[in-house]
Amino acid sequence: MSTVFVIGSSNTDMVIQSAHHPKPGETILGNNFIINPGGKGANQAVAAARLGGQVTFVAKVGDDLFGHQAIQHFQNEGINKDFVTLEANQPSGVALITVDAKGENTIVVAPGANLFLLKKEIETVANAFQVGDFALFQLEIPIETVQYGIKIANSKGVKCVLNPAPAQVLPNELLHGLFAITPNETEAQILTGIEVKDLASAEKAASILLAKGVQHVVITLGAEGALYCTQNQSFHVKAPSVHAVDTTAAGDCFNGALVLGLMEGNDWNAAIEFACTAASKSVQKLGAQASMPHKSDLV
Ligand code: ADP
Repeated sequence: MSTVFVIGSSNTDMVIQSAHHPKPGETILGNNFIINPGGKGANQAVAAARLGGQVTFVAKVGDDLFGHQAIQHFQNEGINKDFVTLEANQPSGVALITVDAKGENTIVVAPGANLFLLKKEIETVANAFQVGDFALFQLEIPIETVQYGIKIANSKGVKCVLNPAPAQVLPNELLHGLFAITPNETEAQILTGIEVKDLASAEKAASILLAKGVQHVVITLGAEGALYCTQNQSFHVKAPSVHAVDTTAAGDCFNGALVLGLMEGNDWNAAIEFACTAASKSVQKLGAQASMPHKSDLV
């Protein structure tokens, strides 16, 4: 059985709900306090594992309470955590989130150990790469690590998929090695300069990414689903119409499901439909990892 290697971030989200956001210098009393596992890498690893994939997560956490809890959590989710390592002198990645009565949030992320996932960790996991495996990357770890990871994975016959989030401009050499890229509308705009507001503009943005050497482009369009483009074909997959209560990590769910769908041998249309179905389940529940569906939820 092939493996999905998710190479990316792990954070602990600490959320306080309060009536309003504090002004600079102000201290206020909040309401609920919730601790949630997060980080785009961890979210995507959990999504793929819950949907039945054999998943290996490659990440760095601090040698602290959050780091040890995260490793235990990955094990509980059935994820291979042999390549989640401890960084001695750095705290685990943390996001401090305040949500006000209107549901608006402010977020401060301290990446901590995530910034210490380096080339040597890629070299260690490279021995486990096999032809037919997939590697799924995001951009919450150093860009040099992502670039090196893609190079090494490609050399081992592993197909590399990049979810280019959070949005940033990327070097052409990095894009050139990709089997697939999966930006949302904002990320597609940052990568190409094209304002993505409908299918026609999404197709234009996709053509720029294809010209830079990416083999397959999937632009996610929120409630509108996703657009697929390759050199000689493009199509739109609609998302199931659902009542969304929280779209946090919808893209993470989509990515974990898409890569798993492809690895299981589905064609692009079927894999994107599977990813849209899974993501539409996730938006109907609160939370990031808490909302990721299990295989049994999709029948
Ligand atoms: P991100 O979360 O990265 O911003 P999107 O908002 O494009 O990404 O959402 C990713 C995927 O999640 C979409 O392609 C779609 O399949 C699904 N999705 C997002 N919002 C909704 C919604 N309101 N209803 C149904 N599916 C949704």
